[in-house]
Amino acid sequence: MQQDFRDSPLFRQQLYIAGSWVDAQSGKTLEVEDPATGKVIGTIPNAGAAETRQAIEAAHEAFKSFSRTTAGERAEMLRRLHQLILDNRDELAGILTLEQGKPLAEAKSEISMSAAYVLWFAEEARRVYGEIIPSPWRERRLLATRQPIGVVGAITPWNFPSSMLARKIAPALAAGCTIVCKPATQTPYSGLAWGELCARAGFPPGVVNVITGSAREIGGELTSNPLVRKITFTGSTEVGKVLLGQAAETVKKVSMELGGNAPFIVFDDADIDRAVQGGIDAKFRNTGQTCVCANRFYVQAGVYDTFVTRLSAAVERLRIGAGVEDGVELGPLIDADSVDKVEELLTDAVAKGGRVMTGGQRHPLGGNFFEPTVVADATSSMRFSREEIFGPLAPVFRFETEEEAIQLANDTEYGLACYFYTRDLGRAFRVSEALDYGIVGVNEGLVTTEVAPFGGVKESGMGREGSRHGIEDYLEMKYVCMGGLGFPVA
Ligand code: ADP
Repeated sequence: MQQDFRDSPLFRQQLYIAGSWVDAQSGKTLEVEDPATGKVIGTIPNAGAAETRQAIEAAHEAFKSFSRTTAGERAEMLRRLHQLILDNRDELAGILTLEQGKPLAEAKSEISMSAAYVLWFAEEARRVYGEIIPSPWRERRLLATRQPIGVVGAITPWNFPSSMLARKIAPALAAGCTIVCKPATQTPYSGLAWGELCARAGFPPGVVNVITGSAREIGGELTSNPLVRKITFTGSTEVGKVLLGQAAETVKKVSMELGGNAPFIVFDDADIDRAVQGGIDAKFRNTGQTCVCANRFYVQAGVYDTFVTRLSAAVERLRIGAGVEDGVELGPLIDADSVDKVEELLTDAVAKGGRVMTGGQRHPLGGNFFEPTVVADATSSMRFSREEIFGPLAPVFRFETEEEAIQLANDTEYGLACYFYTRDLGRAFRVSEALDYGIVGVNEGLVTTEVAPFGGVKESGMGREGSRHGIEDYLEMKYVCMGGLGFPVA
C-alpha cells in the first residue's frame, strides 16, 4: 500500500496568516487535482484581497522586530529550517509528486535543492557588509549600509512548487525581510508546507505568510499595497508584464524570473553521446516543464543525422508513468491545456514539413500524459521556434556555420538559459560570449545550483536568484553622512 501523504501534518489545507491557520473569509474553497489521475486530492481556501491585506499587515507588523534581529539569529533559524526540510524530505517529496506529477526521484531532488537554498542563505545572512567611504570632507564620515527592504510579496509557479519558493523565502528571511507568498493554484500544498516548516523553525508569527486563491485579486493587492516594498515573481512573461505594470504605481523593487526559449546547439566537433545525454536532461526533466528546458535543438549539418538518431533512441528508452511509481522518468503534464498546447505545436510543425522521429501523440495512459517526441527538419516558420513548448517535444533544426547558430539562437525576445556542445576551446569562449542569455551551459545540460546566479536577460526577466547576489534583491542601500563629529573643519 502506498503511503497517503495527505495524512502528513505538513499537508495543510488552510491559509497561514500571522502564525495561524485560517480559512478564506467567505469560507469558499477550490479543489486541487492530481495531474496523474485527475482525482481531487484536497481543497484550498479561495482567498482574495481581504486576506492578502491581513497577511501584508501581519508581515508589516512582524517586520518591526524581525528586521532588528541579528544576522546570527536569522542564520540560526534558517539552519533549523534547513534541517527540518531534510528531516521531512520524503513527506515533502510525496506531497510534491501528488500535486505536481513529477517522478518521486525528481521531487526528492527538488526538496534537497530547497534545503540547499536555505542553507546557502543562512550562510549569506552573515555576509551583508556595508562600507566606509573615504570622505571628501575632513570633518564628516560617510557610511553605506544595507538594510532589509521590508515586506516582500512572492508569487510562484507550479513547475517547481517547493524550490521556487525556497529561492525567495530564504534570501528574504536572511536579509531580515518578512514575506507574503502566493503559490500556484495547481500546486499549493508544497507552498503551504513552507508555513508549517517556518513555524516549526521558530520564525515569529507574521514573518512568513502563505495565501491561496484568486491570483488576480491576491496579485492585485500585493502589487498595489504600499506596505509591500518588493515583488518577486516566477512565472510567464505575460503575467510578469502585468505585475510589473501594477507594481509601477507604488514604485516597488521588482525581480522577475520569466519565460525562456532555450537553444541547445550541437557543433560538429561535439561529443555526441554527451550532447544526447545533456539534451535528454535539458529537454525532458520535469516532462519539459521548466523555464530552462531546451526549446530548440540546433545541430550542425555534419552531425545532424547521427544526433537525431541517437536522441530519438534515448527518448524511446524513457519510462513514462505516474510519478509515484518506481523507475518512472517522465510524469504527466500539469493539466489538459498543456497537453493541448503540445499537440497544437506538433500539428503545426508536421503541417509545415516536420518529421516525427519518435512519439507524436497522446500517451495510451490517457489524461495528461503525452509521448516524449522528437521532430526532425524543424524550421523557423514553425510555432515552437518562437513559443515556449513547456512539454516533452524536442524540435531539431539544422545549421551550417557558427555565425548562423549564434544568430538563430539569439533570434528571440527571451534570454534565460542556453546550451551548446563543442570540444573547441576557442569556440566555447566565442559562443558563450555571443549568446544573449543569463545562463550558459557549455557541454552541460543541467546547470542550476544554489551557489550560482540564476536569471535572465531581455524578456526573460530581471534580478538574480541564488549565489551571493541573490540576497541583493531584498536589500536597500542606505548612505549615512555623519557630521558634527568635532573634527576641525580646516
Ligand atoms: P504558468 O504558465 O507557469 O502557469 P503563470 O504566470 O500563469 O505561469 O503563473 C505563475 C503564477 O502567477 C501562479 O502563482 C499564478 O497563479 C500567478 N498569476 C497568474 N495570473 C496572475 C495575475 N493576474 N496576478 C497575479 N498573479 C497571477
